[in-house]
Amino acid sequence: MSDYLVKALAYNGQVRAYAVRTTETVREAQRRHQTWPTASAALGRAMTAGVMMGAMLKGDSQLTIKIEGGGPIGHILVDSDAKGNVRGYVSNPHVHFELNAHGKLDVARAVGTNGTLTVVKDLGLRDYFTGQVPLVSGELGEDFTYYFASSEQTPSSVGVGVLVNPDHSILAAGGFILQLMPDTEEKTIDEIEQRLKSIPPVSKMIEKGSSPEEILYELLGGQDNVKILETLPVSFVCRCSRERIADAIISLGAEEIQKIIDEEGKAEASCHFCNETYEFSKEELEQLKKFAERE
Ligand SMILES: [Zn+2]
Repeated sequence: MSDYLVKALAYNGQVRAYAVRTTETVREAQRRHQTWPTASAALGRAMTAGVMMGAMLKGDSQLTIKIEGGGPIGHILVDSDAKGNVRGYVSNPHVHFELNAHGKLDVARAVGTNGTLTVVKDLGLRDYFTGQVPLVSGELGEDFTYYFASSEQTPSSVGVGVLVNPDHSILAAGGFILQLMPDTEEKTIDEIEQRLKSIPPVSKMIEKGSSPEEILYELLGGQDNVKILETLPVSFVCRCSRERIADAIISLGAEEIQKIIDEEGKAEASCHFCNETYEFSKEELEQLKKFAERE
């Protein structure tokens, strides 16, 4: 079952809503980075929020999220776009703790609570938007909720969750974002707040087989209340390529490339985001050196 996201309006346009299943996407991230369960949950939650925030953009715009909480996983970096592509990594993937007091993966302990959540939107034509907020919980859902309220002045509710199997593979992942328009009635807000208190965690709903549409129906008081506007396939996609790595090697300069040839006889470079390794033989390095000499 491949991942997808839905965009919707509810309560006659008073509420904008997004929901996504990211099980396969987070599974791919876990497989590539070999993250341990708590780190998988942290990365998966950030990627899930990231792919929904990407879907709020238009055209070729892109989004980068950086979370630095001072915890043992180091920083989390997530890139996404308006087309459902997302990629991400944590600096220390081998982090795992006992479950917390709520019986959940202790994401706040892995991320840390003393730091910042930064969002950079590349809107094209050198038009950038940057927003930064202090982390308020380290569990990430609440931190994104705070980000929307504080940095984008949009009252929101963000739910993101990841369930991990005993063998470290991903069992289920997904999330939702609800955003209130300025004219939302008190009654609507109360209803949504009540439901948010009573629904199961979003990761559990995904595990039970709920689709993104069904998650929104449950959150927003049934199918009649919700108008689905668009669905978007979602997957882990990296923008790296052999050509880009070769360009990076060329930019080191001829002298530096010669040093690598003399000392290593070959070059190996991996992409932070997807952990793909690219190897360049001595002959290929000689070629790249010629390019570097011409620059
Ligand atoms: Zn890559």
